[in-house]
Amino acid sequence: MERIDGHTILIGLMATPIRHSMSPTMHNNAFAKLGLNYAYLAFEVGNDQLADAVQAIRTLDMRGSNVSMPNKQKILPLLDKLSPAAKMAGAVNTVVNDNGVLTGYTTDGTGFMKSLADEGLDIRGKKMVLTGAGGAGTPIAIQAALDGVKEIAIFNRQDAQWKQAEKNVEMINAQTKCQASLHHLEDRADFKHELATADIYCDSTGVGMKPLEDMTLVEDPTWFHKDMIVFDTVYAPRETKLMKVAKEAGVKHVLNGLGMMLEQGAEAFKLWTGKEMPVEYIHQLLF
Ligand code: NAD
Repeated sequence: MERIDGHTILIGLMATPIRHSMSPTMHNNAFAKLGLNYAYLAFEVGNDQLADAVQAIRTLDMRGSNVSMPNKQKILPLLDKLSPAAKMAGAVNTVVNDNGVLTGYTTDGTGFMKSLADEGLDIRGKKMVLTGAGGAGTPIAIQAALDGVKEIAIFNRQDAQWKQAEKNVEMINAQTKCQASLHHLEDRADFKHELATADIYCDSTGVGMKPLEDMTLVEDPTWFHKDMIVFDTVYAPRETKLMKVAKEAGVKHVLNGLGMMLEQGAEAFKLWTGKEMPVEYIHQLLF
């Protein structure tokens, strides 16, 4: 509390639902540890309030904001500049305000890859099955392809994100050495078939998170094999239904989205403050 005064610089988080988020705890503890005069607050912002909220970053001279579901793609036209990775992914999770110029970055893809590396896991040259092609799934797919994942089978349902999934596959095949393919999530036999040869299954759909905490896209443990990685981008609850099924199947490496959250946050922290987040300290605090 002693840090908060008339000079405190505000950083926001704009998403809905957002009250479960651990980002405020993570960033405020990191600011306190380093003695930085910043405060990080979560704001319940959906698509309808997004333009006003982005205007508030300028009006209140905030240093920036994180952006999450369902705003990561909708925010693009409201910003002045985009990092190359954000442009390629068509998604932003971090906004930096430099004297009124708002630049959008995406740190989810690098956060995903870094969180695997933190566990000693290397998926370069391997095959990934990925469900979802939204604000998280898109940068995950693109960063994985850029970093050398050999093959990505993307499954999406026929909803508004299908077009984005098509774009992701086209872009990966045109601009990286990775072989990407698009599949209908409704085709259960195809989904099972692709999982049988996957080295990693990543679910980026948010199924397993409130209000869908009793759901998983893979209910049958026999669809998994022991030597693979099962990664859920959800971290609340800590153990999702998907993770329970993977553990039942004896899968060796079953991860929730906490590590990814930590690493995407560390990169955003550096963009705002120019300082390294004390990752070890935060890891001990949150895990
Ligand atoms: P989004 O709305 O942009 O995209 C959701 C994707 O999942 C879309 O492709 C959509 O077609 C698909 N989908 C949604 N509901 C589905 C359902 N019931 N069945 C099948 N497919 C469905 O959302 P997002 O921003 O990509 O976030 C997705 C999840 O990832 C959320 O749970 C979010 O909390 C989590 N996330 C975690 C981190 C982290 O650091 N751990 C970072 C970003 C996002």
